[in-house]
Amino acid sequence: MKTQPAFDCDPDFRRNPKKSFFCWRCQKDLKPEQSVRWIHLINGGTDILHPESESEYVPDNGDMAMFPVGMDCAKKIGLEWTSEHPELIPPVAS
Ligand SMILES: [Zn+2]
Repeated sequence: MKTQPAFDCDPDFRRNPKKSFFCWRCQKDLKPEQSVRWIHLINGGTDILHPESESEYVPDNGDMAMFPVGMDCAKKIGLEWTSEHPELIPPVAS
């Protein structure tokens, strides 16, 4: 199974999101017209699951489900680690 430590994404938790739909990595609000990518956080949020590994992954207590990221952050994480559509229902809805 391919996973990438999420700490490599350099998330910025200092910012306080104003809306419930925001980029997981930089905490900036995501506007409806903005394109977003989705990451699947596992192991309590410390790792990103590679989309190709979805079929091998057995959800456990550390499964944090899908989180949206803006395009800039998705490129920094690596687009191959993100999905175009969430396969799971996102934990937050705007
Ligand atoms: Zn971002």
